[in-house]
Amino acid sequence: MTTPAPTAPAFEVAAVREDFPILATRVGAHPLIYLDNAASAQKPRAVIDAISDYYSARHANIHRGVHYLSATATDAYDQARVTVAQFLHAAEPRECIFVRGATEAINLVASAWGRANLRPGDEILLSTLEHHANIVPWQIAAEAAGAKIKIIPINDQGELLLDSLDALLTARTKLLAITHVSNALGTVVSVRELIRRAHAVGAVVLVDGAQSVPHLPIDVQDLDCDFFAFSGHKLFGPTGIGVLYGKAALLEKMPPYQSGGDMIERVTFEKTTFRSIPERFEAGTPHISGVVGLAAAIRYLAKLGHAALAAHEQNLLAHATAAVRAIPGVRIIGEAKDKVGVLSFVMDGIHPHDIATILDSEGIAIRAGHHCAQPLMQRLGLTGTARASFAFYNTLAEADRLAATLLKVKKMFG
Ligand code: PLP
Repeated sequence: MTTPAPTAPAFEVAAVREDFPILATRVGAHPLIYLDNAASAQKPRAVIDAISDYYSARHANIHRGVHYLSATATDAYDQARVTVAQFLHAAEPRECIFVRGATEAINLVASAWGRANLRPGDEILLSTLEHHANIVPWQIAAEAAGAKIKIIPINDQGELLLDSLDALLTARTKLLAITHVSNALGTVVSVRELIRRAHAVGAVVLVDGAQSVPHLPIDVQDLDCDFFAFSGHKLFGPTGIGVLYGKAALLEKMPPYQSGGDMIERVTFEKTTFRSIPERFEAGTPHISGVVGLAAAIRYLAKLGHAALAAHEQNLLAHATAAVRAIPGVRIIGEAKDKVGVLSFVMDGIHPHDIATILDSEGIAIRAGHHCAQPLMQRLGLTGTARASFAFYNTLAEADRLAATLLKVKKMFG
């Protein structure tokens, strides 16, 4: 007797959809089909309620008060840092800095670490897949230091050409800043291997995890990355909050990024001394309700279980890819072997914005354009793509509606 293949745990998408009030939205006569999750994901009631409860019963400024509410809010804030550290599998909560999002996290490292460490002639290694948030801060840091930027190329499927690393990684490479998952193509990058190779030449590695946290389990100690950045709003949490993880030894040596209240030990008009991490990098009153909401999102996801979500998402991606690929004149952009639920495509003779506009008229939300990845679009010879991006609350029927409506788009354009 053969052993049956292991099956994915049961996943009740209809029940999960009930957790997201916004999914009941109607767009004119049509039910909303939300396929713009890579831009920002929707929020479960657990997150909405946590924020409402925080403002209804627990709000005061943190850290500076001795009164009941200040202590309650401080507890919630500090506990959220523990939740985030567990989510990332960080060695210590103080390695997790609350910031506005992935963009601010990367700017913090480019500015503070860059100022202290980059010198003329140093090299920063990026890849063709990067989002502008992981390009522009490095250009500014490189210009300030007299450093140089080099790029890991990709093949036509949207996978990094790892063979190029032998020539690109040298003793001059000070930093590798690399996306974990491409927002435009969905490619999963083998960051573990890249980190190992970069460390072998003494480079520090920042992983842009903005698009990986909603789809992949993260273990920063196992990856051995030096920095890891993500945004709460792509992880079913609030906007305006995100996390920079950094190894304590590196963060402790970095100068402040922003300065003001809460990040100081002692201030005189002659000299100021700074607190240790994480406070050194959290100047001013933080986004307390955002932090509380982010922790609620992480707890919500943990309850659903990663394996069930991932299996459903892969199912959705395979189903949608097959249905969209079958439409004549459609070309799928980004066919890496390892992908998350991002489906980028172009249609012969039809502008991506026209595709998105017609889909919207049927209640289907996708994104069209360069997806903040203009150098990637240039490499692909495109000005933009249409991009449907899936979350675990999407259904196979929604993927079918996408394909059926794309067929209509094709007919409309003859
Ligand atoms: N990095 C990647 C790969 C992204 O997809 C995004 C946003 O789309 C960012 C960084 C920036 O994230 P945020 O705008 O939330 O700071």
